[in-house]
Amino acid sequence: MTKIVWLRNDLRIDDNRALHYASVSGQGSVVVIVTIMPDFWAQHHESPRKIGFWLDAVKQLHAELALLNIPLVFIETHRKTLVTDLQKLFTRLEVSDLYFNKMLEPNEQQRDLAVKEMCHDLSIKVHVSNQSCLLPPGSVLKLDNTPYSVFTPFKNKWLQVINDMNIDCVPKPLAQPKINLPSSIPQLNFLDAQYDYDQTLWPPTEAAAQHRLKTFVAKELAHYGEQRDLPAINGTSTLSPYLAAGIISPQRCLQALNKAKDSAGKATWLNELIWRDFYKHILHHYPRVGKGRAFNLITEKVVWHNNETHFLAWCQGKTGVPIVDAAMRQLNQTGWMHNRLRMVSAMFLSKNLFLNWRLGERYFMENLLDGDLAANNGGWQWSASTGVDSAPYFRVFNPYRQSERFDPKGDFIRQYCPELAELDHKQIHNPPIMDSYPAPIVDVKQSRAFAIEQFKNLRQKTQ
Ligand code: FAD
Repeated sequence: MTKIVWLRNDLRIDDNRALHYASVSGQGSVVVIVTIMPDFWAQHHESPRKIGFWLDAVKQLHAELALLNIPLVFIETHRKTLVTDLQKLFTRLEVSDLYFNKMLEPNEQQRDLAVKEMCHDLSIKVHVSNQSCLLPPGSVLKLDNTPYSVFTPFKNKWLQVINDMNIDCVPKPLAQPKINLPSSIPQLNFLDAQYDYDQTLWPPTEAAAQHRLKTFVAKELAHYGEQRDLPAINGTSTLSPYLAAGIISPQRCLQALNKAKDSAGKATWLNELIWRDFYKHILHHYPRVGKGRAFNLITEKVVWHNNETHFLAWCQGKTGVPIVDAAMRQLNQTGWMHNRLRMVSAMFLSKNLFLNWRLGERYFMENLLDGDLAANNGGWQWSASTGVDSAPYFRVFNPYRQSERFDPKGDFIRQYCPELAELDHKQIHNPPIMDSYPAPIVDVKQSRAFAIEQFKNLRQKTQ
């Protein structure tokens, strides 16, 4: 008999509950499967670089699992054929048990339900573990058992709940006796496809993720509170691509944090891990946010501008507002953007350009290496004042002030906008008219006032 472990956004051997439980329970050999579903990725606007990173991580995993005699089988399929393809494979391999870690995204939940039903028909036992959050959705609720929609009370309850729980990391599986799969089982073959991401910046391995965590905790964590908002400094963990693909678990991050020396930075980093849980819980309790709907339904009445030229300028980093342009160029060149700049550029799109936040959300997904539905949607709806515990609609960032405050010498701008490199640290935030750099496409003061007015009217109209 065979025990299948279906890996999806948990591409790791270390601290993988599904893999661990499969290896320690029941009879039979463990086989890992990975499903390659290009139409599913396209539907979710997954970026080519994220797919490339993910596929390379699968390739690494294949080699690491082989050392434990655990075969990794991959199935290239489509939304519509997934269940029948799995059914054929499970029958051929005489599968007794299926193990996977739960995903919280609405389409993935629907997909997993269909697979569970197929398993039920074949009398295959399904074992689902919760590991994508530190605390599973449903475990952090108000006294009346309803979900929180404000971060601080969520966090306070989260801290209480986690105090009463023992969050352990599980060990790697032990090597099993060698098994021979039937020759008809698909082998890893097409993974040599080239996808555009920088492997030197983002090595797709568990060792790289763990090294990054260790180095961050040892060197940066203590100063995280002061450095996390400065994009010119490598003051954050840059673990998000690894967490999104599950190359490292959030539980490993928490364990490293708990073991670190006391410092002010510890509580601040924990806060960010709790934000990660918060948005995942929101997606679970309010799946509409994952389907293009606003959390705050009143804001669906906003009539956004329709201006393709402005949108294109924003995408290309040519708005004439240096901090926004540098941020967008960082995204376009590396697949990652600093958190402070994600807020600045998202607020610029949704408030100053007054463009629909969904356009920006999609552009981020199409380009980020760490694209994550819950965090990306949460961040966009926060910036656009349409989401849970959002920035209040009247508190619109001034991108020039943000630039002076968080990139005071203009070092970050210089890195991504070399045409401004010669300007001094005052001019660089709001340059004079130049041939080599566009004039601002929008007046930030006027556009700010316009956006506030639109949100104010909306509230009055609905009262
Ligand atoms: P660190 O500061 O080291 O934080 C550690 C981890 O905590 C991160 O890796 C991430 O998993 C989590 N985290 C940190 N901040 C947040 C946050 N505000 N919300 C949720 N989780 C958080 N994060 C993504 O992982 N994927 C996305 O697609 C994404 N899109 C975003 C879009 C917008 C508009 C905004 C404002 C934020 C978005 N974020 C997203 C959150 C945040 O910007 C990134 O997680 C962070 O910049 C990643 O860098 P890091 O790994 O160095 O984070």
